[in-house]
Amino acid sequence: MSSTVAASASALPEGITDANYKPNPGQLGNLTMIQQHALEKFRKELEAEGYLAEGEPRRDDATLLRFLRARKFDVPKAKEMFINNEKWRKEFDVEDIVKNFQFPERATVNKYYPQYYHKHDKDGRPIYIERLGMLDLKALRAATTTDRQIKHFVLEYERFLDERLPACSAAAGHPVETSCTILDLHNASISSFWQVKDYVQRCTDITQNRYPECMGKFYIINSPYMFRTVWSVVKGWLDPVTVAKINILGGPNEYQKVLLEQISPDCLPKEFGGVCECPGGCSNSDAGPWNKGTVETESGGQVLSA
Ligand SMILES: [Zn+2]
Repeated sequence: MSSTVAASASALPEGITDANYKPNPGQLGNLTMIQQHALEKFRKELEAEGYLAEGEPRRDDATLLRFLRARKFDVPKAKEMFINNEKWRKEFDVEDIVKNFQFPERATVNKYYPQYYHKHDKDGRPIYIERLGMLDLKALRAATTTDRQIKHFVLEYERFLDERLPACSAAAGHPVETSCTILDLHNASISSFWQVKDYVQRCTDITQNRYPECMGKFYIINSPYMFRTVWSVVKGWLDPVTVAKINILGGPNEYQKVLLEQISPDCLPKEFGGVCECPGGCSNSDAGPWNKGTVETESGGQVLSA
């Protein structure tokens, strides 16, 4: 394909139909010799210690590379992260959550603290929207607990990896490995942040340590002036590479233009400057290539059992 790819020490993954696809450095199809060797060593050592048995999930190159990139291709550090994650999955009983966890309060929770996936950005990434400013803690706590919210958060991450990304990759014609997140702070106050601080911190910890390298774009919109105070705290929880992916924007005059550079109007809900108005509301539609019920032209929108 392109010269960038030809220079890579690893081949592109199969099944790519997008002729313009250029993997980022550290992704399959764009590895240096050193990175390729690190990947081989990482796989060999994990196999020798009983991980990555044939048929096990999370043994593919793309997954191993996410852990390697998160630790800058330092194999011992990536190994520690990988093994800790496998331990955490057992302790937290992630497989059981995936199989059995039900969240019937989803629509109610969505009203008082909207968090949802909706369609995809121009690079094929699933869009994840969270509206902290709509938080009504009293109503939220009447509807659910923090622990149940965390389980639901993990379930959504599992579905993101197992269903949304494969469907988005098929639709885009190239691997899609990350999300595009919009965090709306309209009407959010410092107190609304502190009210959900523990939940947000636990989610941040899970995101960074259990699902590394899944964030492609992160837009914080309607950021109030005082947000910088909170940001100085949140920043400390994130690594510098993550901080560099974050775009902090003000009101509609500032953010709409920036969002529309990355997201086509028909994929962006109307309230953020797009034209999408899903029946029943964008926040409840779960529209996207992963949802068969979604009216979209792309193929590949397969839905696995929820
Ligand atoms: Zn919509």
